[in-house]
Amino acid sequence: MGRSFLFRYQGRVTATRYLEEGFGQQFLFLDAINSLYRDGFGNVTDFLSDASWVRVFLKRWNLQLKSPTRSAQAELADLRTHMRQIAESRSSALIPRDLSVLNKALNAPTYQRLSLRRGALHTELRPVTADWSWVRSRIAASFVEVLIRYDHRLKMCRNAGCRWMFYDMTKGRTRLWCNDGRCGNRDRARRAREKRGGA
Ligand SMILES: [Zn+2]
Repeated sequence: MGRSFLFRYQGRVTATRYLEEGFGQQFLFLDAINSLYRDGFGNVTDFLSDASWVRVFLKRWNLQLKSPTRSAQAELADLRTHMRQIAESRSSALIPRDLSVLNKALNAPTYQRLSLRRGALHTELRPVTADWSWVRSRIAASFVEVLIRYDHRLKMCRNAGCRWMFYDMTKGRTRLWCNDGRCGNRDRARRAREKRGGA
């Protein structure tokens, strides 16, 4: 599934637009990282401060909470920055500081709950307190799950103006752009121009 680049970001985020923008597709932490959103033309949107985006985000990942307080939003933005730094620079060699940031985010008390769904037993992890530390812990947990795979599939769009992070599901790990039709074309055109210019 690709992203839509048809508009500069305006208006309310609905569930449909959320998906069109490329959110909600692979992992929870990717939506958090990509919530600092670059349209490739120098426009940056911070969706963490957009209440409509946050509502859809929480619903998509089944986290039943109200909008974050200012401090919760700041802590989330902080975690986002750290995760991006780790993802961009040293996903296979975490330093103690990374571990401590991630462990701090992971540290939300939970319990396991057993239920019956359509006759089948099912367990899920529930928060002792359903607050934003729970959201941060779920984001960090989904990030850590990908980090420990060490499979080099966590990538950033090669278009420098975009920086969208994605998990490359292709067999040969050959995916370079968030969206081949748009960022891919734009990037190829730019490289071709540079090559001609340099020749
Ligand atoms: Zn891109």
